[in-house]
Amino acid sequence: SDNKSKSWHEAHQLAAKLYHHVLTVSDEGKQAREYLRGRGFTKEVIDHFQIGYAPNSWEFLSRFLLKRDFSMEEMEQAGLVGLRDSDSKAYDKFRDRIMFPIWDRQGKMVAFGGRVLNDGKPKYLNSPESQLFNKSDILYYFHQARPLMKKKSEAVLFEGYVDVISAWRAGIDNGIGGLGTALTENQAKMLRRNIDRIIICYDSDHAGMQATYKNGQLLRNVGLEVEVALLPDGDDPDDYIRKHGSKRFNQDVILQSVTFMSFIFEFYRKGKNLQQEGDRLTYIENILQEISQLSGAVERDHYLRKLADEFSLSLEALKQEQMGLMKVAE
Ligand code: ATP
Ligand code: MN
Ligand code: MN
Ligand code: MN
Repeated sequence: SDNKSKSWHEAHQLAAKLYHHVLTVSDEGKQAREYLRGRGFTKEVIDHFQIGYAPNSWEFLSRFLLKRDFSMEEMEQAGLVGLRDSDSKAYDKFRDRIMFPIWDRQGKMVAFGGRVLNDGKPKYLNSPESQLFNKSDILYYFHQARPLMKKKSEAVLFEGYVDVISAWRAGIDNGIGGLGTALTENQAKMLRRNIDRIIICYDSDHAGMQATYKNGQLLRNVGLEVEVALLPDGDDPDDYIRKHGSKRFNQDVILQSVTFMSFIFEFYRKGKNLQQEGDRLTYIENILQEISQLSGAVERDHYLRKLADEFSLSLEALKQEQMGLMKVAE
């Protein structure tokens, strides 16, 4: 009901305010402040994203919210506290974590993402799924980035909060992030309703490449023009910006983004030795499959020529084979 979502939203806002206060002024927040400073989070960034710190205590938040007339049951439903199995005693879910508020698409705060300060596990913890926090419907920073996205008809998609925030600092104000789960069709459609073009800028590790491929297809299938911004091996956007600065991130990464199909040509090369006949044939098959999935005839022709040129093959043979694949797909 409305009432329920109102108190849910209020509980999150109060918690965020409290966590932000702890981070910015209290003694307990000193270590977290230093950690964030070390990672280049300025006061402006911490305020803008309403970042906070949940102290290392079992009852810090629940005590505070009890005083504000929230019941344990409400807090539990909101995913802010857990109830102990043995005696149903409440405990704070987020302890000793940097807290990132998460907003829904109307801009209401509905969840948190928490990051450990050092190398505890899990590194990131999100609020549990519920009726009011449906991860598959939410993208980090979507509500705030939306007007800018619309204006440019473009968005930049990152893996998560930290990359969105670093990129924002580097001047990318139409950046949004996933929540540690696979992109869903819902999220893709929600983007399509606002923009024509999307740049995927994920981590340049194996997982990041796989996710770029998978999510790129999903985004393309809802009608978005997909581009990919590539980072040097091993870096993620936040690493890159810290090493090379904002200017280079914009000029050498974002502005150099390639079409999704160019990414695919590179993607299938990974782990293959194209000097070897077997690998080379597999590669050509892979690319032909991909070309068959393109909807435009001109586009298909363009990439067939590219493939023919690179491997000195006859365009006719490639065309024939690719037509066969299209029939199979039908
Ligand atoms: P770091 O803070 O060390 O830079 P990262 O943000 O680069 O970490 P990744 O492992 O690359 O961390 O994950 C990218 C993003 O995906 C995270 O910022 C976070 O938003 C999200 N994420 C990753 N793992 C999880 C998880 N287990 N639960 C929720 N979100 C996650
Ligand atoms: Mn990653
Ligand atoms: Mn990363
Ligand atoms: Mn990172």
